[in-house]
Amino acid sequence: MTRIGAVLAGLGVVAASALAVAPQAAADHPSEGGGSLGAPEDLDGRWASPTPVGKKVCPTKSFWVGDGWGVSRGSRKHRGIDLAADRGTPIFAVEDGRINRTKRQANGALQIVLKGASGPKYYYGHMDEVFISGGDKVVAGQVIGTMGDSGSPGAVHLHFEYWKSGRESAAVNPKKFVTRICRL
Ligand SMILES: [Zn+2]
Repeated sequence: MTRIGAVLAGLGVVAASALAVAPQAAADHPSEGGGSLGAPEDLDGRWASPTPVGKKVCPTKSFWVGDGWGVSRGSRKHRGIDLAADRGTPIFAVEDGRINRTKRQANGALQIVLKGASGPKYYYGHMDEVFISGGDKVVAGQVIGTMGDSGSPGAVHLHFEYWKSGRESAAVNPKKFVTRICRL
């Protein structure tokens, strides 16, 4: 009897201290436990998407343009455009659609393929974080990841490809498209 009582009392103490500690811990780390989905309502505007052009949204913001289409990559040619900004810059869904796949490539690069409702697919590479999974529905301007250098250590940027017809083999030079939807 006494022993059980002591055990229960012990449990009670543990539970009470756990409850007491939880809010304290949260208060000590206000940046943890929220915001990782890139809620657009964040007041600091960090996650706010660019203004749409028609129904399309620039895939990132506050960037400068690096290598473009056709630049040599050893034995291959560069099939996209590189948009560089600070690590953690949000990456946006270009249009309403569905996530075709997300994957970490053998070289560590994180990739996202978004199938747009209007037909094309958009390929995003080198993210730091990815907030969606294959099969997820997304809306234009939704934050789907953050810019990083996965698979490209030390060179933080978004590698962006435009598969205009929806087929990977049909990647086209995305410069005009990006110029238009990013208002360059
Ligand atoms: Zn690239």
